[in-house]
Amino acid sequence: MLQIKLLTDDEQHARICEDYWRQDERGEFVLKVEEIAASHGMKQQDVPKFVKKNAFVWRQDIFCVQCKKAYLYTSRAQYKEKYRFRNQVCAACIEAERRDINEKKKSLILDMRRNAQKGKIDLSSFGLTSKIFLLSTIKALIDQTNTKIEPLRSHPACTLSPDPDYDKIILNHLIGNYMLLVGVGTRLDAIEINENEHYNVNIDRCEYELAYSYGQISNVIEDLLNDSTINNLKRSSEFSYLCRECQLYECLAFLKITLEDYKLHLSLGEKTRLVLNQCLEDFSVAQVCNFIWRAVKDDAIYHMRCPIDKRQAANSTINNISRNMERALANNWDVIPLHRNHNLPQSALSHFIFDMLLGSRDGGFERPLHELLS
Ligand SMILES: [Zn+2]
Repeated sequence: MLQIKLLTDDEQHARICEDYWRQDERGEFVLKVEEIAASHGMKQQDVPKFVKKNAFVWRQDIFCVQCKKAYLYTSRAQYKEKYRFRNQVCAACIEAERRDINEKKKSLILDMRRNAQKGKIDLSSFGLTSKIFLLSTIKALIDQTNTKIEPLRSHPACTLSPDPDYDKIILNHLIGNYMLLVGVGTRLDAIEINENEHYNVNIDRCEYELAYSYGQISNVIEDLLNDSTINNLKRSSEFSYLCRECQLYECLAFLKITLEDYKLHLSLGEKTRLVLNQCLEDFSVAQVCNFIWRAVKDDAIYHMRCPIDKRQAANSTINNISRNMERALANNWDVIPLHRNHNLPQSALSHFIFDMLLGSRDGGFERPLHELLS
């Protein structure tokens, strides 16, 4: 079964190798290494090194399932492990496959870039939301050389927007509108290709390039930051929707972090958004955080005293937030605003909207929207 290939023409050298690999009918090695050393006048520790250089062996029944080439062994220790290789793919095939997948990924990136170049439209024809998303992303993620947008994943939470879900909405918007091109330097592990050749791009792990020149982008900034645009902004329903959305995600992020602190679970659905939006009609994010914090804390205490399903406790959180708000409105309470949680600093989006456009220092957190837009 064992096949040997000698790499030497010297007869004595060949004998050493043959002695080393000789097996009896049960497949046991006939000679001990020390016996081989003694009979050829060698040091015991030199024998395996010598044989490794001058011969290798293989078995026809243990081969790579892909290329069908037999595995090669150069030492007894390797050979003893031979059954580990049965039904396996060899290193060369794995490497070839990896190269093949990487080539596919590279051509996928090039395709995406070509599509983006083809679909690109003039920057000035985009609406307010697109422009604000683009400028906030540049502010948050541009690299030191001002040439590329770094992967979102390599930045801490709240760098771009208040919440990771919102971050992805923003990036998807910019990619979908061909405002960002997937960068050629994107790490290939950001793209997954499955067996059916379907691919999945992890947008938070890609790097990007801007589809527009700095000159074009500066024009947009100038346009947005002039006094007449800012006055009109306050009357724009698109802008007020964007402000509200940013505030809503501030509240959602705070709700998630508070639930985590109390180890409660909540699937954040439409009702959550509805209740938080109702709160934001009259109150600032800082005040809504107070409603949220009280509701979660009360539920956690209730849950400790009276063990019910944690999911049920968290669902009652939303009702509690709503009740807290209704009571505060009915009694005209002065709701104490909370400070920002240190894990949820102000994001680039919030800074751009509330500080730069509306001229209020972290106003999106500190003040109710109706006050900021009046
Ligand atoms: Zn192979």
